[in-house]
Parts: sequence; C-alpha cells; structure tokens
Amino acid sequence: MSVTPEFDVIVVGSGAGGAMSALTLTRAGHRVLMLEAGRHYDPVAETPMFNRDIDAPLGNLPTEDRHPRFFDPIIGGAEIEGEPYVCADGTQYDWVRTRMLGGRTNAWWGFAPRFGPYDFKSRSRDGLGVDWPVTYNDIAPYYDRTEEMVGMFGSSEGFENEPGSPPGILQPPPPLRAFEYFVQAGFASLGIPSKVAPTAILTQPLEDRQACFYSTHCRRGCSIGAKFQTTTSFIPMALRTGNLTLRTDAMVIRVNTDADGRATGVTYGDNKTGERSDVTARAVVLAASTFETARIMMNSKSGSHPDGLGSRSGQLGRNIANTVNYLVDAQFPLLEDRPRYNEDGVSVPHMYIPWWGYKDQKEGKLEFTRGYHFQVYGGMSEVPGVTTGPHIVNPELGYGAQLKAAARRRYGSRIRFEMFGEMIPNAQAYMDIDQSVLDKWGSPVVRFHWGISDSERAMARHGMETAHKVIDRMGGVILPQDEAIGDKTTGAGGLHETGSARMGDSPDNSVVNNVSQCWDVDNLVLADASVFASHPHKNPTLTIMALSLRASEALAQRIAVQKSQGGVQ
Ligand SMILES: Cc1cc2nc3c(=O)[nH]c(=O)nc-3n(C[C@H](O)[C@H](O)[C@H](O)COP(=O)(O)OP(=O)(O)OC[C@H]3O[C@@H](n4cnc5c(N)ncnc54)[C@H](O)[C@@H]3O)c2cc1C
Ligand code: SF4
Repeated sequence: MSVTPEFDVIVVGSGAGGAMSALTLTRAGHRVLMLEAGRHYDPVAETPMFNRDIDAPLGNLPTEDRHPRFFDPIIGGAEIEGEPYVCADGTQYDWVRTRMLGGRTNAWWGFAPRFGPYDFKSRSRDGLGVDWPVTYNDIAPYYDRTEEMVGMFGSSEGFENEPGSPPGILQPPPPLRAFEYFVQAGFASLGIPSKVAPTAILTQPLEDRQACFYSTHCRRGCSIGAKFQTTTSFIPMALRTGNLTLRTDAMVIRVNTDADGRATGVTYGDNKTGERSDVTARAVVLAASTFETARIMMNSKSGSHPDGLGSRSGQLGRNIANTVNYLVDAQFPLLEDRPRYNEDGVSVPHMYIPWWGYKDQKEGKLEFTRGYHFQVYGGMSEVPGVTTGPHIVNPELGYGAQLKAAARRRYGSRIRFEMFGEMIPNAQAYMDIDQSVLDKWGSPVVRFHWGISDSERAMARHGMETAHKVIDRMGGVILPQDEAIGDKTTGAGGLHETGSARMGDSPDNSVVNNVSQCWDVDNLVLADASVFASHPHKNPTLTIMALSLRASEALAQRIAVQKSQGGVQ
C-alpha cells in the first residue's frame, strides 16, 4: 500500500534559486516545504540601513558570524561552525556561504546581466568546454519574466552578445553620476564603450516594495525592498499563497530514495535541537548553492544509488568554475575639491563595461579565449572601503585642521575597477567529498581541487593592463593595495561558483537534462548554478533564477499530471 507523501515538493535552500522554485510551485497550487539551514532573517527588522560604521562593534569590522563587515548581512562566511570543508594539497579555496533565510541574496549587489547567444554555445564558437543543451532563445522568455518579477532597472542598447529586454520590462535607470561620466570618457578614449548596468533595484514601486531613495548601503540589505532579496519578495509572496511551509535551522543531510531509485523525501537535522527528521514528498528540488547541492547528492548513497545521486556520467562534482577576478583602486586628483554634481544613486554601479574584444579575438589578436567585463565603484555616497579609507584619513596628509581639509578635498576622488572574467571548466578544478572529515551531522565534507589555465592568466593580465591604461588616461594614481592583489588571480574563491552537476543532452555526459531534472532520479530537480554547463563572465544570479523558473514550471506540470492520475509519486 502506498502512503500519500506529506508534501508535493521539498525545496532545499531559500536563496535565489530555491525561492524562485518555491514561488513557482506554490503559485501552481502545490504544497511546498522549504528547508533552510540558516536562521530566520527579517530584513525589515534587522537591516541597519541608517547606522554609521562607528555604531557597530569595532567600527564595523567582521565578527565571528558577520563577514566581511559587521553590518553586512552575511551570517556565515568561509568559516561556519560545524560545517568545515577541505582543500586538496596545493589548493587554496575560499568558499563563502551564508546560513540565513534568503541566502546570499541578502548581501548580493544586484548586478544582473543576461547571458547572450554566444554564452550558451561557446564550444561551437571556439571548440572549448561544452555547449549548453539550450539556446538563448529557449531561455529568453524566462529572462523576461524573471526580470519583471525581480524588478530591475536597465536599458537595451543592443551590444554584441548583450541581449536587451522587450519594451516595458526594465524600469528606467538612474542617471550616471559625475564619476561615472568620467570613467565612461576614460574607457571611450581607448575605444571601449560602456552601458547601463542591469541591476535588481527598483526605481519605481513594485507591488508592496518601494523605490530606491538613493541614500543607504545596498550591501547591508534593503529593508524597504528596493534591492531584490528573496526575504522581501519571493518568500513572502510564496507564503501568501497559503501553500508554503517554511522551516529554518533545518539542514538537509541526504535525499532518500526507494528501491526503484526515485526520491521519496529528505532527512534533515534541526540545527537548534540536534534532532533528525525524515519528511516525504513527491519530488525534491535542491537549491543549496552549487557545491552544497553536489555534496548532498554525493552523500545520498543507497542500495539503488551506491555512489550517490546523479553520479552515473562521472560528471558530478566536475566542471566547477569561478570568476577570474582582478581589482584595482586609484585616486584621481582631477576629482578633488570639486563641486557636487549629480551624486545621487544606488551604492552599486549605474554603468558597466561589457566585453568589447570579440573582433580582436576572432582575428587571433588576443592570447586568451572568452571575455570579461568591468564593474566600477566610486562617487560621493559612502561605500566603505571605496569612497572612504586610508587615502582620505592618512597621516601623510597632515593632522588636525589640515587633515580635515585634505579629507574634504579628496572625498569622492577614489574609484575601484573590478574585472570579472570567464573561466573555462578544466580537469584540475573539481570537488569531491572527503570521507575522513565529517560535519556536525556526520556527513563527509566538500574537498576542493583547483587549477586555472594560461588562458585565464593571460585574461587577468589583459584586464590589469587595460585598467591601468584607463587610469593613466584619467590622470589617476594607483593606490598601494593594488600591489598585493596584482595579476595573481587564481579564480579560487569568489562569489559566483558554477558547475558541479552540469546540464546536457545525454545521461552519458551530464547530470541533469535541459530542464534541470536529474537523469538518474526523475523526481529530483536542481535549481541553482550547479547545472551551469559553462561559466560566462556575466554574474550568474539572473540566470540561476530564470533556469529555476523554467525547471520549476516543468516540474509543476509533471506533478499536476501525477495528481490528476491519482499517483502518489
Ligand atoms: C557580497 C556578495 C555580492 C554578490 N553580488 C552579486 C551580483 O552583483 N550579481 C550576481 O549575479 N551575483 C552576486 N552574488 C552572488 C549571488 O549572491 C549568488 O549567485 C546567488 O545568491 C546564488 O543563489 P543560490 O540560491 O544558488 O544560493 P544561496 O543564495 O547561497 O542560497 C543557498 C541557501 O541554501 C541554504 N543551504 C545550504 N545548504 C543547505 C542544506 N544542506 N540544507 C538546507 N539549506 C541549505 C543556505 O543556507 C542558503 O540560504 C553576490 C554574492 C555576495 C556574497
Ligand atoms: S540605496 Fe536604494 S536599494 Fe540600496 S539599500 Fe538604499 S534604498 Fe535600498
């Protein structure tokens, strides 16, 4: 006799991917249980939008569970008590995680470009990596709907491989600020164009969320809901359907399967009480973030899946990648002691520099494959570490009245250039589990292996040289910390991890199909960046949500059919 499962779907994780999935499934009328390992988090009550750095302990330095600054909503970081990870010999990898409702969307900066047609078919263009089993045109309608649901400003200028949105979807962007016009001119002097940054921040109200008032730190989160966070949008929206049950402090340990190998539910541990529970469902969605999703699959061994779930192709844990990053700060005497022009805005960029080198690459003029972009930060709104810092308050500038005058003169004269580059997955970069190191629930932990190629190193060098040329054209002085960062990028760390359970068109070469359904367990769906088949330089979160929407709608339909046929699975 079969027993009706307690829920239609269990969604693991409440970040970008999990919340989109839960909203889609609950709106389709299915009963969803969301399990989130982190604690409950309420941005309205907990976001210190107006506090000054000096209001925080130690002037806003990090504490045990707050990184990289006390006021940043990252409860977690690279070190999480009871959840270690290890690195193989010769590898150093910083895995930044959050353990809070809403995941990293509470802390993200909201820069949300679409991938373009080339990004989904890069192997067909240059012979490296693999193509995705979907085209840009397959995903475009889901980008349209995701952008509308998220609420974004942007524009559709029509740059190569930077698709725009249909009219009426994006909200009007805020005007460029004085420093951004200056940067735009600097890049333009090298023939490099810039473009409005597609950003998940409201410039007009959307449902019960308010428009940005351009005064506070987006990085701390946004209690008025102007910056997209799942805690002020998708999660409350899903709760309002009446179909969502939410459990926080609930760490999923494994997915359980039956004798036929299908998922029957999960086992999770209560981080507060230490109790373990089993819960059943017709289907399971994993959105615990790229590496944790793969770890759960590897740890879900059973008689029907002796090597864990989704391991048949040998691709589980492979193809991981992260951003090729380079960052430089410079101070610009031309921006000193100037009148205030238009300085209002969000505390993230209004414009960015999309990749401009497709033609040179085609003509063989560059030493690397694929592209990168720059995000540029500065201006007069206080962005700790960028607009303030040692170049403002520095004993070399004098003391007392002299120092105050120097600080006023130089405020807003510093600009940060950050490069984000594409890494091509390679055989050296992968994750597995270390059976000898266990987390607090007795499960083996992630072990990282890492390597990048000469192409990525050449790309980082190119990014550095380009930034230095632009800074030079703008009359800037590179600040000393650049020497520490230099061109030593390794991609090992960063915030944009992808791969580990890539999608493909065959169970022989991929873990999930083109709607993120596990080839080996047809009622297991992945809804985070684990399914990415490549790692375009464009930040991943909009694509995570668009793919989650697509995968969750397909799952909702399958479950509706099962229910109409009276099946329990
Ligand atoms: C400071 C910062 C700035 C960023 N800026 C940008 C940006 O501008 N643009 C961009 O595209 N991206 C940005 N990112 C990255 C972006 O936040 C992530 O790509 C995105 O949030 C990933 O979504 P996710 O749902 O896959 O994972 P997460 O948001 O990490 O959510 C995963 C959730 O799963 C939970 N979980 C993990 N394991 C378990 C388990 N075993 N059981 C139950 N729950 C579990 C976690 O606690 C977490 O809440 C930024 C990130 C940071 C930290
Ligand atoms: S600047 Fe705007 S989006 Fe950013 S935290 Fe303030 S109100 Fe929110």
